[in-house]
Amino acid sequence: MRVYLDHHSTTPCDERVVEAMKPFWTERFGNPSAVHEVGNDAREAVEQAREQVAAVINAPTDAICFTSGATEANNIVLQGLMAKCTSPRKIITTNVEHSSVLKTVDRINQDGAHGVILLQVDGQGLLSLTALNDILASDDTIGIVSVMAANNEIGTIYNIEKIGEICKRNNVFFHTDATQAIGKVDIDVQRMNIDALSMSAHKIYGPKGIGALYIKDKSRVKPIICGGFQEEVTSGTSNVPAIVGFGEACRLLIEESPAEREQIGRLRDRLLKSLTDNLDDIKINGTMENRLPNNLNLTIKGVQAEALVLGMDDVIVSSGSACISQNPEPSHVIRALGVDNADCAIRIGIGKGNTEEEIDYASARIIEVVNAVRSG
Ligand code: PMP
Repeated sequence: MRVYLDHHSTTPCDERVVEAMKPFWTERFGNPSAVHEVGNDAREAVEQAREQVAAVINAPTDAICFTSGATEANNIVLQGLMAKCTSPRKIITTNVEHSSVLKTVDRINQDGAHGVILLQVDGQGLLSLTALNDILASDDTIGIVSVMAANNEIGTIYNIEKIGEICKRNNVFFHTDATQAIGKVDIDVQRMNIDALSMSAHKIYGPKGIGALYIKDKSRVKPIICGGFQEEVTSGTSNVPAIVGFGEACRLLIEESPAEREQIGRLRDRLLKSLTDNLDDIKINGTMENRLPNNLNLTIKGVQAEALVLGMDDVIVSSGSACISQNPEPSHVIRALGVDNADCAIRIGIGKGNTEEEIDYASARIIEVVNAVRSG
C-alpha cells in the first residue's frame, strides 16, 4: 500500500477533470482570442469555466482573471496595486503567509517606494484583529491588507469575514490568499468584503499551472506582464485545457465538497487519536479550533521530520527541512509559533481519496518508524 497524505502540496487530478480537459488538446484546440469559429469554440469553453470558478466564491464572472496559479495572482495584486500608488503606502500582511506573498512584499519593501508591516501570529498561529484594527485606525498610509484565508502548514483558518469588515470600515483594499481554503471553508467575496482573492486549481483536484485572481476592480492594478492582456491584468495565450479542467474542478467542488469535508475531518481525527494513543510526546502545532479539516501538523519529540519522511516511502507526509524541500531551514510558519524542535514538525494533509484503511495503515507505519528512531 502507498498512502499519499500531502494534499496541501498538491492533489491528484480528478478523473472527471481529466475527461473534461481531453477534447481541448486536439479537437477543440482554438485560441480563444481568435475571432473565427475555432477560436469562438475555445472562448465559450473559457467563459463557461470562468463562471464555474466565480461560483465557488460568489464573485461576478467578469472579476475572475485566469493566471498560472496563486503565485502569479499574489504577485499581480501586490505588485500591481502598489505600482499604481503614487504616494508611499504600506502593505500589511502576516509572518505566516506563503512565500509568494512574503517574498513579493520583501521585494516591494527593498525597492524602497513603499513599506511593509508584518503582523506576528501568536504561539497558536492566531492573529490579533484588534492589532490590525488599531493600525488601520491610526495610519492612513495603508495601501493593502493581505491575509491568507487558511495556512498551508498548520491549517489555521483566519477570520477573513471580520478582516473584510475592518478593511471596509477603514476604506483599505483587502486581499486574501485562499489557495488552501477553497473547498474547505465557505467564501463569499461579496458578503465578506474581499477586494481580491488568489487561488490555484491543483489544490482542488484540478490541473497544475492554472489558477485565478478574483479582483473586484481591475483598474486598481498595473499589470506586471504586458502583451495581449488576454486576462486584462495579465497577458499570454490562454491555457484552454487547464482552464476547462479548473472549471470542472470547481463544479465538482460545489457539488461534493460539503460532504467531503466531513469525511476528511473524521479521518484526520481518527489519525490524530491513533497517534496520540500510541505515542508519547507528540505536540500539535497550531490550534485545533478553526483548523482546516484535512490538516495536522505535529512535532514528534526526538524524531527529526526528515528521518520520518525519508524512513517511510509508503506513507507520504511533508517536512519543511532539507532534502525534501531543498530548503535547509525549518519552516518559517513553525518558527513563527516559537515551537521547540521546529525540525521535528511534520505536516499531514488528507484528501478526498483517502480511506479509513489507508489512515490506519499510515498511523501504524508512523508509530513503527517513530519507535524505531527513538529506540535506535
Ligand atoms: N499560497 C498558498 C497558501 C499555497 O499553499 C500555495 C501552494 N503551496 C501557493 C500560494 C502557491 O500556489 P501555486 O504554486 O499553485 O502558484
